[in-house]
Amino acid sequence: MYANIIVDISSEKLDRAFQYEVPASMEGVLREGMVVTIPFGKREISGYVVELTQQPEIDVQRIRPIKEIRSSGETVESRLIALAAWMRRQYGSTMIQALKTVLPMKEKMTAKSRKFLVLLASREKAGAYLKEMEKKKYRARARVVEALLAEGKLDYSLACQKLGCGSKLTAALEKDGIASLREEEEYRNPVKPKEKEACAAVELTSEQKSAVQGILKEWSQEKPRPCLLRGITGSGKTLVYMELMEEMLSQGKQVILLIPEISLTYQTVMRFYRRFGERISVMNSRLSQGERYDQMRRAKSGQVQIMIGPRSALFAPFPNLGLIIIDEEHEHTYKSEHSPRYHARETAIYRAELEGARVLLGSATPSLEAYYRAVSGAYALFILEGRYAGRSLPAAEIVDLKKELCAGNRSILSRRLASAIEERLQKGEQSILFLNRRGYAGFIACRLCGYVMKCPHCDVSLTEHKGGRLVCHYCGYETPKLLSCPQCGSPHIGGFKAGTQQIEEAVSHRFGEARILRMDYDTTRKKGDYEEILSVFSKREADILIGTQMIVKGHDFPGVTLVGVLAADLSLYAEDYQSGERTFQLICQAAGRAGRGERPGEAIIQTYHPEHYSIVAAARQDYEAFYREEITYRKLLRYPPTACMMAILAQGEEQELLKTAMEYLKRFALRIYPHPDLQLIGPADQAVGKVNDVYRMVLYFKHQDAAKLLAVKDKLEKYIQANTGFKKLYIQFDFDF
Ligand code: ADP
Ligand code: ZN
Ligand code: ZN
Repeated sequence: MYANIIVDISSEKLDRAFQYEVPASMEGVLREGMVVTIPFGKREISGYVVELTQQPEIDVQRIRPIKEIRSSGETVESRLIALAAWMRRQYGSTMIQALKTVLPMKEKMTAKSRKFLVLLASREKAGAYLKEMEKKKYRARARVVEALLAEGKLDYSLACQKLGCGSKLTAALEKDGIASLREEEEYRNPVKPKEKEACAAVELTSEQKSAVQGILKEWSQEKPRPCLLRGITGSGKTLVYMELMEEMLSQGKQVILLIPEISLTYQTVMRFYRRFGERISVMNSRLSQGERYDQMRRAKSGQVQIMIGPRSALFAPFPNLGLIIIDEEHEHTYKSEHSPRYHARETAIYRAELEGARVLLGSATPSLEAYYRAVSGAYALFILEGRYAGRSLPAAEIVDLKKELCAGNRSILSRRLASAIEERLQKGEQSILFLNRRGYAGFIACRLCGYVMKCPHCDVSLTEHKGGRLVCHYCGYETPKLLSCPQCGSPHIGGFKAGTQQIEEAVSHRFGEARILRMDYDTTRKKGDYEEILSVFSKREADILIGTQMIVKGHDFPGVTLVGVLAADLSLYAEDYQSGERTFQLICQAAGRAGRGERPGEAIIQTYHPEHYSIVAAARQDYEAFYREEITYRKLLRYPPTACMMAILAQGEEQELLKTAMEYLKRFALRIYPHPDLQLIGPADQAVGKVNDVYRMVLYFKHQDAAKLLAVKDKLEKYIQANTGFKKLYIQFDFDF
């Protein structure tokens, strides 16, 4: 047995692990993450064990034995290395990839101190300045000054990330004597901020209280389970999180709070700042490696106690981690797209186990995986039923687009939705139009009867490819394109092609006088664009906001009383088994945007499939009803979470070689595991089959037992490593448990 050992945690050292022999006395004791003493040249130094292996990498004669174990996991680095080893085994990647994901990397640069932008001018002067900036349409500057007036001082990196602040803007504010940039050490608060919201003192509702108490009770058990909090938007999940965070801090422990990047708006972050002040650090994916390292260093040294951020914040090296919260637990961004393709939920649960910490998952529309585990008792389940202050959920109405076509209406807007928008314009209220276009939606449907072309083997939608073929991206089934509908014979069969831009045109054509905003990937490319559109809309400087899923997450618009879902089917017939779940989640979220203010809201959902359970349940915001239908379908077809699924994703420039390699992998798997309970599907082209002349294929495996799939993966990994034929391909594993 051999151990690969690194002598320091930095990028260069990681790529250069040294191999040592594990003495017999340490076998079975030595584990990844332990610190050991090793002979190194003429000296003795210490290093971290990162990998245990049977495979000598150099001449065995030259491998020296480990001298002794110095510590077995007392430091956070040790535990993070152990976590990386688990991720490597669980998701399949190299150890270096896993370590680089998990460990904060030192760089050859000096750490920067934390900076704050501080209001210098009097409130009167700053207020006048704000008015002037607004008049001149210096929007970013106005936003920053407005925030300064509200808060007194701002975390500089947050102001840059979320408000569009920057060095030019800061220089202008300093020149005009409005604000100045300070470093944390020298900072003293010179201006009393505006009377702050009484946020520490909110009284929890009895429902919220009993959730908090129930969760604390679960956590006091000997074997505390992860907790899942299901509560519709506006039910106060965030307040429950804060209460539990407070509890952890009072025990001297630290907290990680994961929020999907898109929901991590300035408003959200400020809520936490107001309650917890500078004990918070906020991460986002745009930070440079140096900035990330600075934040990680602050977490490790105890300068901050709460790390808020997207997926990667999960690895904050807190010395005494008490709690990991994952908000919007169902979001697909919690799964990494790079090797190791880990899921933050499972990884959080394993990290918590290593650290003796607790886990809380929250969502209005939990993932099937989480709810399945909650129902089975593996997680503890808590539910918030009502919206705060009895605010009602919007009344939702489903409009059948097939009938619109029959009535001769070929517009994107149904008659019902068009008149509802008209009504809002007259009353001076706002509307949101939501197009749930995500990724590649190339499904083929009949616009008259709603018939959708599906794979007869996998029950997922077929996707149209060039040359008119319809293809299944699970098993590779193919059939020629149809000219008429097999169900009703109508020639109105084809893909749904409208994008946000066409919708904007249609809406402005119909309502010439309306002020329209559009939010999608094209209009939010620059830093600050996203916040800019949100801020214009929330100030009611526009009547209609048109957009993709970006607009339905994490933002409150009290003026919105109408939400229109333009074509609910778009996500329903994406080519994978989670399309029903995604549709339910998106429509629930979209509908939940209406009626957040004083006036009640209305949601209008346009669809070709008014009877589909995902749509019916979403219109009623009935999670349980949706779950019952969906889990039945998953069980029937053995999709996760009722079975485990592994994918081998392979890429290569030579198509023939790629095909042959996939066939070899399939044959090898069948040879090492010849039982019928392992189901193989494919190989097939991936959803996007070719990018920049690199071909992509996929091979799926299904099994009831995750451990069996992992065993197959281990053998496949070795097989791939041992055969030079695979060297020209890039191969990754992907799991859904
Ligand atoms: P969620 O996170 O579930 O969407 P929030 O915590 O954001 O819900 O709560 C929604 C709104 O209701 C917020 O504006 C919040 O301040 C308010 N709210 C919820 N519970 C209370 C409470 N107990 N006291 C005062 N305001 C509350
Ligand atoms: Zn038809
Ligand atoms: Zn198929």
